[in-house]
Amino acid sequence: MTSDDLTQLTITDASRLLRLGSISSADLVTAHVERIERVDKHVKAYLRFTPELWEKQAEEADRRIRQGDAPPLAGIPIAVKDVLCVRGVETTAGSQILRGFKPPYTGTAVARLFEAGAVMLGVTNCDEFAMGSSTENSSYFPTRNPWDLQRVPGGSSGGSAAAVAAGEAMIALGTDTGGSIRQPAALCGVVGMKPTYGRVSRYGLIAFASSLDQIGPLARSVDDAAIVLSLMGGLDPLDATSSDRPRMEVLNNFGAGVKGMRLGVPREYYDVKGVEPGVKAAIDAALFILRQAGAEIVDVSLPHTDYGLAAYYIIAPAECSSNLARFDGVKYGLSEVDAPNITEEYQQTRRKGFGTEVRRRVMLGTYALSSGYYDAYYLKAQKVRTLIKRDFDEAFKKCDAIVSATSPTVAFPIGAKTQDPLSMYLCDVLTLGGNLAGLPGISVPCGTSDGLPVGLQVLGPQWGENVVLRVARAYEEASELKAVVADPSPLQGRG
Ligand code: GLN
Repeated sequence: MTSDDLTQLTITDASRLLRLGSISSADLVTAHVERIERVDKHVKAYLRFTPELWEKQAEEADRRIRQGDAPPLAGIPIAVKDVLCVRGVETTAGSQILRGFKPPYTGTAVARLFEAGAVMLGVTNCDEFAMGSSTENSSYFPTRNPWDLQRVPGGSSGGSAAAVAAGEAMIALGTDTGGSIRQPAALCGVVGMKPTYGRVSRYGLIAFASSLDQIGPLARSVDDAAIVLSLMGGLDPLDATSSDRPRMEVLNNFGAGVKGMRLGVPREYYDVKGVEPGVKAAIDAALFILRQAGAEIVDVSLPHTDYGLAAYYIIAPAECSSNLARFDGVKYGLSEVDAPNITEEYQQTRRKGFGTEVRRRVMLGTYALSSGYYDAYYLKAQKVRTLIKRDFDEAFKKCDAIVSATSPTVAFPIGAKTQDPLSMYLCDVLTLGGNLAGLPGISVPCGTSDGLPVGLQVLGPQWGENVVLRVARAYEEASELKAVVADPSPLQGRG
């Protein structure tokens, strides 16, 4: 096996080879590091690398494999989005305000993967504080789509999606507040899953919008996403919103196929404004395949879809304005100490430390929460959120899962939407309903349009991760459209 072959494996394949002794965890790390050296100068998926961790963790994994007591992810190379705290590893949420911040602890989801034997390669790029849909809001540099280096990888977990797509990590962790795992997964041609709100502890996640944020995996197969999710979920005393539902239930029956299942196609998602014809064609083909595999396709309606975007862009900024108040130059990261007084110090630190989009959201959120406007905006948005949740409850009376495109468009050129925040916000029309309602959702590769990946989204009822995974896996199998590794090269731009 060549070194490049090792960067194309799934967890299932790699684990078998590791246990057979055909490869070692050290081999896997070396293969990935070589691949990163070759392609990351083009893709720029990573912000930093963690050799001190990968050396120790790979050695430990190899020792345990030799002893025959290897944990489930022993030796599996993972990448971690720059919003998840890892002890001693600089973690900055893609922002200048946290430059130099080294968390004194590791968040629960990452810690559970470490306990399961994962080997951390590095920290992936993302939009600042996870606000964005293209990774262009990173305060460091934009990440590029491995399928076309002139295009965005999606966002905000664009570095994680690009790393997995380009063979620079077997698995990556992302976070999804309005679509930030599923949308970049779709644009990069990989699998990305957002769990039910409360499935995975948010302890150690730098908060954006606490009632919407969830951590989830990006992977090259549905099985891999399922394995990782089953290992990082479950009750955590350090996050009061984490649920005590059994973490392994996500795997229940998930290989059972779609025969006899009812899959709902919401007409508001199917005919959404701005959907590209090539995306629609890919989704039609996917529906055909699912029908052939034995599913019944049913028409459902989510009547409040039109109000979702507006409600999300009140609630998410409101929560972020409150969460980001802690970045005042005193406790963490950047500090403007030359200021004449404490108020000036706060203001200068925040002006210098936050980028344009973050400041826009903080202002929107502060306004929406201010006395006199609270009822008109925030409260109203929360009411709309309840209506959206009810839409889904009604729809799930008629179907087992909902299917749609993940993103109305394929990857767009770098710079195409940066001057028009509204057009960027529209990237999430099909994903943010799942966040507002707290539901599990996945995006799986579903062919291409104009040579660029398209994603199929499957949404399930609350705690129905196993249903979502079951549909996604059946589709992956029937379509034979497994994620493949991209070979990024600077010559490959499509003009
Ligand atoms: N693109 C959306 C936003 O900018 C969603 C981001 C996310 O899910 N973190 O808010």
